Amino acid sequence: MYFVGPHVSIAGGLENAPVNAKAVGATGFGMFVKNQRQWKASLPKKGDVENFRKAMAENGYEPRQVLPHAGYLINLANPDDAKQQQSLDSLVCELKICETLGLTMLNLHPGSSLKLIPPEAACDRVADALNRALAETSGVAVVLEDTAGAGGCLGSKFEELARIIQGVDDKKRVGVCIDTMHTFGAGFDLRTKKDFLQMMEEFDRAVGIGYLRGMHLNDSMVELGSHRDRHESIGCGLIGIELFQTILRDKRFEEMPLVLETPHPENWPDEVRMLLEAAAR
Ligand SMILES: [Zn+2]
Ligand SMILES: [Zn+2]
Repeated sequence: MYFVGPHVSIAGGLENAPVNAKAVGATGFGMFVKNQRQWKASLPKKGDVENFRKAMAENGYEPRQVLPHAGYLINLANPDDAKQQQSLDSLVCELKICETLGLTMLNLHPGSSLKLIPPEAACDRVADALNRALAETSGVAVVLEDTAGAGGCLGSKFEELARIIQGVDDKKRVGVCIDTMHTFGAGFDLRTKKDFLQMMEEFDRAVGIGYLRGMHLNDSMVELGSHRDRHESIGCGLIGIELFQTILRDKRFEEMPLVLETPHPENWPDEVRMLLEAAAR
C-alpha cells in the first residue's frame, strides 16, 4: 500500500491533522507538530494527546503513515555554538512531542554551513548534534531531507547525507527523505523513468536505499539544477507526471509516507486520487 497525502494544517489543534488528511482522501500525510516559526513549545497536554490518538484511529491512520516536518528555524550545522545549541534544544522539543503523540519519525532539513565553514565540517556538526538529540530522547527517528542546495544548505549532495549518517551512532534512528523538487533543483534530472532510476541508483550507492524512510512528492516551478526551492502541483511543473507515476508503480516506495507539499490545497483531492490511481494500475 502507498501512503500518499499532503502536508496538512494543524490549525485549531493537532487532532485536526488526521481529519484534514482524511478529507482529501489521503492514505498518508505530513504535518508540523508545533508552530514552525517558534523555537520552543510545551509538550501537548494529556487531553490533546488523547484527542490526537483518537483522531488518528477514527480516520484510519497509523503512525507509520505520517511523516511530521520539523520547524524551519532549526540549523544543527550553525557554526556558532550557542545558536547550534538553540537549534538542538528546539529539535529535542519536537522529538519529545512526536514521542508523546506516538509518532515515529521527524523530517528535518540537514542545516546550513552559512558558508562560514566547509561543508564537511558542517556535516560533522550536524552528526554531533544529532547524537546529542537522540541521546536525550527515545524511539523517534530523525529523517534528513535532501535539499536544492541554496546558500550553504547541506543535503543537495548524497555524499553529505551519507557523511552525516556515518557520524550518527544509532543508525536505526536516522534516515532520509527524498524531496523530488529539491532533488531536481539540486541537478538530478527526474523527468523520465530512466533518469529517476539512475538517480535512485546513485542514492543507493552513496547513502543506501535502506535509509529511505519517506518522500516528498512535489513538481517544480524552477528548472533543473536551479538550486532554488519552488514547489508546483503534481504534473503542472517542469518535472511532469511521468516521475510520479513511476514512483507510484515501484514497490520500493510502498509502506512509507509520500507527502505532497504542493501549493494549491484545492488540488489536493485530485492529486491524491491521481497518484493512487497510478498505483492501482
Ligand atoms: Zn522540508
Ligand atoms: Zn520537502
